[in-house]
Amino acid sequence: MAIAPRGPGRTPEARVEWALKFRLLDLTKLSERARHRAWAMLVAWERGRPAEGPRPAQDKVLEAQQALREVIEALANGLPDVVYMPETTWSIWPARRRRPGARRGGRVTVTTDHTRPGGLPVTPEAVVLAFVNDLNAVEADRLKACPLKTGEETTCGAIFLAARRQIYCTARHAQAAAWLRYQPKRKTKEALS
Ligand SMILES: [Zn+2]
Repeated sequence: MAIAPRGPGRTPEARVEWALKFRLLDLTKLSERARHRAWAMLVAWERGRPAEGPRPAQDKVLEAQQALREVIEALANGLPDVVYMPETTWSIWPARRRRPGARRGGRVTVTTDHTRPGGLPVTPEAVVLAFVNDLNAVEADRLKACPLKTGEETTCGAIFLAARRQIYCTARHAQAAAWLRYQPKRKTKEALS
């Protein structure tokens, strides 16, 4: 999938990481330029090609952020999410004819409405599906919520894309968890002596 030539969107992993950060952004504090970049990223992500034209006033960036936050928080905690797309028209474009000798054929592309005079708004539900596709491409079980206990019934809960075998959000929390595992043993030993 060809997305913006530079910026956060080059690989599925980069896009998933971008979404994890984007979900926490305070959109009211974004500059006009940063808002435009976020809109362009989201539109390119859902459409599979760069965004063109002006950003519409109703850009749906906030709605897309909420939808992404929901799916990320649900999946990281092992829960399902639901998206509902009532009135979206999808165009399905056939793959380009394979060039002689080419190893791989083209792909069927799926797009939502491609031209609108006022500019394209983001389709939050389509962004969620694009996120899920990319998450599958990087291995979905890498999306985790940190299980470190921070109280009797609370956990850290920070959401992250795990590197191999990573269980806790940071090295600091991995250490804290190791310490918690070690402490009860120490207490029992002290009680026995
Ligand atoms: Zn943590």
